[in-house]
Formats: sequence, structure tokens, C-alpha cells
Amino acid sequence: MSALLEISGLVAAYGGVRALDGLDLRVEEGEFVVLLGPNGSGKTTTMKTVSGLLKPVSGRVRFAGSDLAGVAGWKRPALGLCQVPEGRQIFPDHTVIENLHLGAFPVRRDRSAAERRRAEVLDIFPRLAERASQLAGTLSGGEAQMLAIARALMAGPRLLMLDEPSLGLAPLKVAELFGYLKRLHEEHGLAVLLVEQQAGTALKLADRGYVLERGRVAVEGTGAELRDDPRVQAAYLGKL
Ligand code: ATP
Repeated sequence: MSALLEISGLVAAYGGVRALDGLDLRVEEGEFVVLLGPNGSGKTTTMKTVSGLLKPVSGRVRFAGSDLAGVAGWKRPALGLCQVPEGRQIFPDHTVIENLHLGAFPVRRDRSAAERRRAEVLDIFPRLAERASQLAGTLSGGEAQMLAIARALMAGPRLLMLDEPSLGLAPLKVAELFGYLKRLHEEHGLAVLLVEQQAGTALKLADRGYVLERGRVAVEGTGAELRDDPRVQAAYLGKL
């Protein structure tokens, strides 16, 4: 059986500068995969290429058995491929509930499906339920990040991609955020592809991980293997 997400020989560039140089990576159905690597190694570019924001120069991205080459980025969430936007691009002048419904566009025509999903999402994030009619722009950093994730969940993803969701959050909030991701993965069977600088914490959650260097995979293994790998320990000394 093929993987849920399968990236092979991916090359991506900005102008003439290569950011991905033959990347191979896969995420199985329901698997939690972490993407590590130094600044500029191509982690964000990988996410952008998979979500369709950046067109690759060559190589292949397959999702749920289909080649994504001809699929526009805006159509990908309906396939079950959702990225939590970087910088938590929620709509500040809309309420929490309105933000959730703006994330529900693949099921929007089916009102009862959207409402069912909203109930499920608010059940996972009770704090958002308490703040249903609050303007999103007035949420705390941690709450805003939860809303960004909750909004992505409204689209009914099979794979949730997150690019450094812990950025700018206090340590307690980071622990809470990772707790939610773990729960979504373990209890709801969601596959996750997470870019994260906090390598130690992320590898504890992950089934598998990749370390990128200069646009390709330098090290690959299970979460435990990567935690024990001397190259990973050297790169993330003090963070494991
Ligand atoms: P970081 O951990 O710093 O976020 P990253 O691993 O996510 O890094 P990318 O953002 O994917 O790395 O960048 C990969 C390479 O592509 C880097 O050399 C970067 O300078 C370059 N790059 C990224 N975005 C652009 C852009 N819009 N224009 C030109 N070059 C870019």
C-alpha cells in the first residue's frame, strides 16, 4: 500500500537558488512525522510545495494515491491535506465561531456536516467554545494558535501540516499545544507533519522524523532513533 503522503526526488527553487535538492519523504496514514533541520535547510519550502504555494521544479508529490502536480493549492484541503498557516493567519475582526466556519469551506455546502464538525472541534478545544463570540484578534497567543489548528480541522484533514506552531509561545503553552497534537494523533488517528525547532519534545511525540540539510534528507529514523543519533544530539545539543 502506498503512503498517505509520498514525496520523491523533489526539487524546488526561488529564482535560481535551490531550496530543495532531491527530497524523499513519506507520511503513512495516521503517522506523526517531525521535520527537523538547521535554518535554511528547506523545511518551510517542503511544506509550501506540498500545500501548493510553491510549484516544484521537478520531482513528485503524491497524496492518498494521487499526483498533486495538477491540483491547485486551494483544492488540496478538500482532499484532506491541510496546513495550519504560519503566523496564525486567523481573521482578527471575526469571532472565533466565524473563523471556524471560514475554515470549513470543503463542507460548507453541507450545513449539517459543518455544524457536526464544529461541535467535534469545540469538544477538542473547550477553551474556544468558551470564547465562541470573542473577536479572534483579542485572543492570547496560545488561544490564537489553537484557533488556527481548530480552523484547519474544520476542513476534515487526513494530514495536518504545521510549521513551527510553538513559535513565540510560553513553555507551558507549548506543552499544552503538543498535548493537543498528541491527542489528535492518538485519539482521532490524524496524520501529522510537524516542522519544529524544539527537537526533543517533538521527537517524543513522533513516530518518525527526518533531519534536512541543504534541501535533502540527512538523517531519517523513528523518534527514538533520532533522539539517540549522535548527529542529532550534536545539532540540537541542550535541546533534547
Ligand atoms: P528556517 O528554520 O530558518 O525557517 P527552513 O528550513 O524552513 O529554515 P526554508 O525557508 O525552506 O528553510 O528555506 C530554504 C532556502 O530557500 C534558504 O536558503 C532560504 O534562504 C531560501 N528561501 C526561502 N524562501 C525564499 C524566498 N521567498 N526567496 C528566495 N529564497 C528563499
